[in-house]
Amino acid sequence: MSEGEKKRGFMSWYFGSNLLMRILIGLILGIVAGLLFKDKILWVQPFGDLFIRLLKMIVVPVILFSLIVGTASISPYRLGKVGVKIIVYYLLTTVLAVAIGLIFANLFKPGLGLELAVGEVAGFELKKPSLVTTFLNIVPTNPVEALSKGDVLPIIFFALLFGIGLSFLLESDNEELRASAKTVYNFSNGAAEVMYKIVGGIMEYAPIGVFALVAVVLAKEGPRVIGPLATAVGTEYLAIVVHVALVYGLVLRLYGLRLTKFLAHAKEAMITAFVTRSSSGTLPVTMACAENMGIPKGIYSFTLPLGATINMDGTAIYQGVCALFIGFAVGRHMPLSDQLIIIVTALLASIGTAGVPGAGAIMLLLVLDSVGLSVDPGTPVAAAYAMILGVDAIFDMGRTCINVTGDLVGTAIVTKTEGELDISKWA
Ligand code: ASP
Repeated sequence: MSEGEKKRGFMSWYFGSNLLMRILIGLILGIVAGLLFKDKILWVQPFGDLFIRLLKMIVVPVILFSLIVGTASISPYRLGKVGVKIIVYYLLTTVLAVAIGLIFANLFKPGLGLELAVGEVAGFELKKPSLVTTFLNIVPTNPVEALSKGDVLPIIFFALLFGIGLSFLLESDNEELRASAKTVYNFSNGAAEVMYKIVGGIMEYAPIGVFALVAVVLAKEGPRVIGPLATAVGTEYLAIVVHVALVYGLVLRLYGLRLTKFLAHAKEAMITAFVTRSSSGTLPVTMACAENMGIPKGIYSFTLPLGATINMDGTAIYQGVCALFIGFAVGRHMPLSDQLIIIVTALLASIGTAGVPGAGAIMLLLVLDSVGLSVDPGTPVAAAYAMILGVDAIFDMGRTCINVTGDLVGTAIVTKTEGELDISKWA
């Protein structure tokens, strides 16, 4: 059956139309319904809760399998200079991205004054682990327990080690070991793909989930939430612009490349990422842009897929901004120690974020968890998270665009340092 025929099947008017459009319609209808019907629309709450539950359901398997596959695909022996350089670039720029996101969030304080905690569920308490415990807890004493409890950081740690171990075995001299490792790799790869399919399916439900979440928030809180949410979105976009101008601009200049020329070469990938909200989906376009920049295939065929998997500057910015938004919204002002934890967890979370629409919002759950703001149904934190989720498509467009841009910047400068960049394309 062709794609077209499939789309003409069950509820084709729904599944056949543009998802982003549907989400935006859900968002607008949710705002209108919430403001218009107030308390009478609260019955839709379970539909929103269902969306959050579906997202939480997928967190553990997505991280586990995508990280195992991502790490195992990097050959430890062939990693070489290019690999080390690009990984250092990816990690450093992501840390800068969260920091910029946090700086702007501290400046604009999105969510301040929402006071969601006031008059909400009684007995709500903020659990706040200490810095040292948080870092120590990254190492699980029992990985299976971490998986069953959904402790995301220990799962990430374990998955990374598992992937590295697997990457060594895949290159083993012992044929039998190599074959078994290949089986484990193929299984993990298949499982990761299945998870992406499920995420895709959950996103088909997003328009309804978004409608319900937004309607309930507006019914309960009234129009006063629109300003803070708009501030959060504005903060993300501003941080994105500054990150591009400052970090990418400086890094490129340091290696004798011009930002304007870079943007002219990268614009197709940036636009595609903006509208598809998927780094992985944009990969073919990103590769074409790299080709136009005069980067050899030998380099970008390694750095770009790796970047689409682990390098998410936009997602990191978003997580910094939204963690603070939620903190402000529930009246929790994050001290520096919390913000340092956010930098570390947002870095890890962005590495574990799959390059598909909405994945960053799922990983935000883990950043929140790390500073004691867990999204439990009925709590103010859940209400604040629901607000963010309601407008996730808007956040996602900006962050995905930058995720892809960052991969291209890194690839361009690493190529330059290797002396393999075709400079004639930059004249
Ligand atoms: N949609 C983003 C991407 O594909 C990931 C995210 O949701 O943050 O890069």
